[in-house]
Amino acid sequence: MPEYKAPQRDIQFVLNDLLQMEQHYQSLPGCEDATPDMVGAIVEEGARFAERVLSPLNRVGDEQGCSFKDGEVTTPEGFREAYQQFVEGGWPSLSHSPEFGGQGLPESIGIIINEMVGSANWSWAMYPGLSHGAMNTLEAHGTDEQKQTYLTKLVSGEWTGTMCLTEPHCGTDLGLLRTKAEPNADGSYAISGTKIFISAGEHDMADNIVHIVLARLPEAPAGVKGISLFIVPKFIPTAAGDAGERNAVACGSIEHKMGIHGNSTCVMNFDGATGYLIGPPNKGLNCMFTFMNTARLGTALQGLAHAEWGFQNSLSYARERLQMRALNGPAAPDKPADPIIVHPEVRKMLLTQKAIAEGGRALIYHCAQLVDKTKLASDEEKVQADTQLALLTPIAKAFLTELGFESANHALQIYGGHGYISEWGMEQNVRDSRISMLYEGTTQIQALDLLGRKVLMSEGKTLMAFTKVIHKFCQAAAEEPKMRAFVGPLEKHNKEWGELTQQLGMKAMMNRDEVGAASVDYLMYSGYVTLAYFWARMAQVAQHKLAEGSGDAAFYRAKLTTARFYFERILPRTRSLVETMLSGSDNLMALSEEHFAF
Ligand SMILES: Cc1cc2nc3c(=O)[nH]c(=O)nc-3n(C[C@H](O)[C@H](O)[C@H](O)COP(=O)(O)OP(=O)(O)OC[C@H]3O[C@@H](n4cnc5c(N)ncnc54)[C@H](O)[C@@H]3O)c2cc1C
Repeated sequence: MPEYKAPQRDIQFVLNDLLQMEQHYQSLPGCEDATPDMVGAIVEEGARFAERVLSPLNRVGDEQGCSFKDGEVTTPEGFREAYQQFVEGGWPSLSHSPEFGGQGLPESIGIIINEMVGSANWSWAMYPGLSHGAMNTLEAHGTDEQKQTYLTKLVSGEWTGTMCLTEPHCGTDLGLLRTKAEPNADGSYAISGTKIFISAGEHDMADNIVHIVLARLPEAPAGVKGISLFIVPKFIPTAAGDAGERNAVACGSIEHKMGIHGNSTCVMNFDGATGYLIGPPNKGLNCMFTFMNTARLGTALQGLAHAEWGFQNSLSYARERLQMRALNGPAAPDKPADPIIVHPEVRKMLLTQKAIAEGGRALIYHCAQLVDKTKLASDEEKVQADTQLALLTPIAKAFLTELGFESANHALQIYGGHGYISEWGMEQNVRDSRISMLYEGTTQIQALDLLGRKVLMSEGKTLMAFTKVIHKFCQAAAEEPKMRAFVGPLEKHNKEWGELTQQLGMKAMMNRDEVGAASVDYLMYSGYVTLAYFWARMAQVAQHKLAEGSGDAAFYRAKLTTARFYFERILPRTRSLVETMLSGSDNLMALSEEHFAF
């Protein structure tokens, strides 16, 4: 049976050794209580919940899926009870404001719990995950009254949230959306329209569901400039703040889909439902970005989750499965054949997953620290953190989900034909991971955001702020002879990243299609370089620990070996990306539409 064991050793390494969590929290007002002991205890408790409660439900969720009858959704057996335990444990409130019942811990602690919960059971984790985004949106843009009414219930976990953007004719291009919001006499709005693919839109886990909905006011400008944001509760809160009268929003059906069967994907019909405006009229998309940015980092985590889960299970399998002999002679002569972990190509698949999972963890936890800074640091630091986060969010989302899917496929491959059979769980992992490259902005859209909006529109400034950080690291680390194997290629790539950007910027001035044609290659290139930076930093920490003779030497040596693997076997993928990204748009645009097929 596939299992999940929270990688606590590696989590502690990233938090304490790499990202200097203690100093980070000490430097932020209100976070001084987040000592390593306290965080360690939270991680241990979260790990127990993920391993014991959620992991056994992962398969159940896939096999049973959600069912739909008379407008109601029943979640798979055990999901509801697990959610009750989650609420009783106070987990939904972890990183939300004490003013609304939260525990006031920084976002970066919440992300550790989300990693473990999501790796154990992604479908289940999406229910509280969407609530978290709804809470962040209300916290940032809601009125005091809205916060008192909705935020407190979301923070306690009694109610859950959703994000309602997509309509049948509009997914990527939200400027096309048609859902209407007509003003009512009492200051509320009547919301009418159909939203599709709404995750956790209807379920049986909480007393009320708070939909955060994009819609258009009468006479609103066309396109994205005419979109406003609304709260539409399933049950309208009473004066006492409880779930009251049923609102005119209902689930019309749920989707039958490739993976994440345990999470309901709903068609939501709004039939003049009562809604309440959040933020200024026609600025809905700006407010929704708060939700989307939380969700993008949350989806980046999905890449890590499937990589970690597949890695753990395929590693156990590779140690036990006996097939063929090692090329250099028997490794287990007492057995009829050697375990497949002796074969170089099996090791390549294992190490790829390990490098992606551990590198991805470093990148995402770093982004979470940036989120802490954007909320709590001094003004100057806030701006710096915001700039870096703007660059790293599309990279983390798209690059890590693409590699998470690759990893899930490697895990399946290691199981051979057994990986294709449901019993082993590997095909579920592949199916579940596939959605991560589609929702929260497809890879193609993240790539346009990165190269077009974040990099070229800032005239390269957003990128330069980060390449400067890498350059400084390389300069300092170049003094250490053992770091040369990492610093040399990293510095070379860092310089090349800037040069490629300049070349693409020049081409774009002549032809805008050049941006689109280079975008995904550019994003993947950026991802490989970013991960190389984190692997170089991890290698440096490991070398220092080994030199000091402190800690678990085998752990640090494994880190160094994995870093070497990353630099020698994964980073060189950038060579083909450079060629293709510079090959121009003509090879894509030359074929006329009618000549695609004959
Ligand atoms: C299981 C599931 C759960 C979901 N959960 C939610 C949810 O909770 N809330 C919600 O609002 N939505 C949700 N979605 C919707 C999801 O976010 C959209 O499916 C996604 O944004 C893509 O939109 P689309 O499907 O309409 O594809 P389209 O926008 O039609 O895109 C089709 C293809 O064209 C490409 N494309 C489009 N424009 C460009 C361009 N300019 N350049 C390059 N390529 C382009 C896209 O990358 C894609 O490959 C969910 C979807 C699924 C399947």
